[in-house]
Amino acid sequence: MTKHSAFAAEDAVAPAPAQAGRHFSSLPPRDCRKAALGRMDLATSGPLRAGSLVDSMRASSPRHAKPAAADAEYLDWIEKHPSALEGFESVLAAAQGKQIVMFLDYDGTLSPIVQDPESAVMTEDMRDAVRSVAQHFPTAIVSGRGRDKVFNFVKLEELYYAGSHGMDIWAPKTGSNLKANGDGILCQPAIDFLPVIEEVFQTLTEKMESIPGAMVENNKFCLSVHFRCVAEEEWDGLGEQVRAVLEGYPDLRLTKGRKVLEIRPSIKWDKGNALEFLLEALGFAGRGDIFPIYIGDDRTDEDAFKVLRKTGQGIGILVTKSPKETGGSYSLREPDEVKEFLRKLVKSGVTKG
Ligand SMILES: [Mg+2]
Repeated sequence: MTKHSAFAAEDAVAPAPAQAGRHFSSLPPRDCRKAALGRMDLATSGPLRAGSLVDSMRASSPRHAKPAAADAEYLDWIEKHPSALEGFESVLAAAQGKQIVMFLDYDGTLSPIVQDPESAVMTEDMRDAVRSVAQHFPTAIVSGRGRDKVFNFVKLEELYYAGSHGMDIWAPKTGSNLKANGDGILCQPAIDFLPVIEEVFQTLTEKMESIPGAMVENNKFCLSVHFRCVAEEEWDGLGEQVRAVLEGYPDLRLTKGRKVLEIRPSIKWDKGNALEFLLEALGFAGRGDIFPIYIGDDRTDEDAFKVLRKTGQGIGILVTKSPKETGGSYSLREPDEVKEFLRKLVKSGVTKG
């Protein structure tokens, strides 16, 4: 398998077929909703190609992981995306005199990927490391999970949280002077989609009951259909059923992550938008002395890496054990290395000069 074929499948995005169904026309109430609408990318790119969804599910889920460290492909890749631990001095040098702003994905970054997504807890050690980082730099958790759920895993009130792939942004009640509403909400660009997401959640939950191991997770503004525990011979049926349900909802789109299908509103709002929104809300937009660090492990994190590349600020760090095409500049192999990196950063005493 080449590195490109290994990666392309995770990149697959399957828009729902554009046809009659539930549409939304009302404007979102907050500024971020206008931004999302202005860049709306409705699912008009045509119907799914037959088999494309299940093919990509299969291709992205190899049965055997490659022994990465020893092979030439890995060595070539690591040269282009060095370990943020081994290259720590370079990271420090680049951040010197700048304000670090930390963005952390949750699953696969702060907690290991586990069979049961409800059990993806983080260790007390990791919580300590994140708490220390947040004492030094503004820190946000950016996750595909519902904000409440990811908060219940992380349990740190001093952080910013961007749940539902950045569609639900919350500011801490203390230590932040941002203009949030009474519940701490800063931005919910997909608020109009709540009823339809709930409706599709109910329908999919019923449909998936017939597929052993399938699990539908309600992430508030988006849904995840996990197939990590589903026998491979059932994947075709699962993909077909999900696609069939979405045919009635042209304002929803289907994307694919690590052994999960994601259903979300077809607005142009992703983790990259959440990063930009938070930097702006924190008063850092347009400043040259900002150094955002974004650490994540999944395709959805690439949107944030892309923003950092585009602005030429900060660094993206991909968490992976195997070579993947990425916009990240550095890499870490697993959550334990993320923890070590966070601890080193705090210990280094790097602060804004
Ligand atoms: Mg992740």
